[in-house]
Amino acid sequence: MTMREAAGTSPAPLDELAREAATCIRCRLSAGRTQVVFGVGSPSAELMFIGEAPGFHEDRQGEPFVGAAGQLLTTLLGEIGLRREDVYICNTIKCRPPGNRDPMSDEIESCRPFLQQQIAMVDARIIVTLGNFATRYMLDRPVGISRVRGERFHIDGRIVIPTFHPAAVLRGGGAASKQMEAIRSDFAGVKQVLAERPEPVEEQLDLFG
Ligand code: URA
Repeated sequence: MTMREAAGTSPAPLDELAREAATCIRCRLSAGRTQVVFGVGSPSAELMFIGEAPGFHEDRQGEPFVGAAGQLLTTLLGEIGLRREDVYICNTIKCRPPGNRDPMSDEIESCRPFLQQQIAMVDARIIVTLGNFATRYMLDRPVGISRVRGERFHIDGRIVIPTFHPAAVLRGGGAASKQMEAIRSDFAGVKQVLAERPEPVEEQLDLFG
């Protein structure tokens, strides 16, 4: 054990990873970013959200989902009794693509180690994927979000629930649209899964053996 570890002053692994990401130059997006947008929220959240990529406001503020789509995400969380700080929020890629274009596959691959480690470190029981890119990343197949939204997938011991991207909901008509109805219903499903007891862990100690 190092002196820092003994004194309890070692940086948390997620903070260390964020520091490493902050100077990343693995792909072309590093050239155009204001800053890396790593993630925000509870490092031990039971519920994690994965979006697509930082937009203009996220790039400026260094925090995911702070623009209009973020406001909708915060509202939807509130409707199921959660605050942003109760969950962990991040993106498939950590740097803003120029003009908010779609992430390219090599950019997603360059960022993969960061997201993989975030998922492992936060170790959330439930992951909600927002939109096509995060959903394809987690399901590892080229699905369309409309076909799989609201379903529960059991992946590597976690429950993955895809839903529409909040930005797509806003583009698709906002408040009274079918997509809004769908995303609300998916969030209600997430609330239900949160309330369900996790699978019991197999008994490690046989007290009567
Ligand atoms: N859209 C995303 O996918 N992520 C953000 O952080 C903001 C908008």
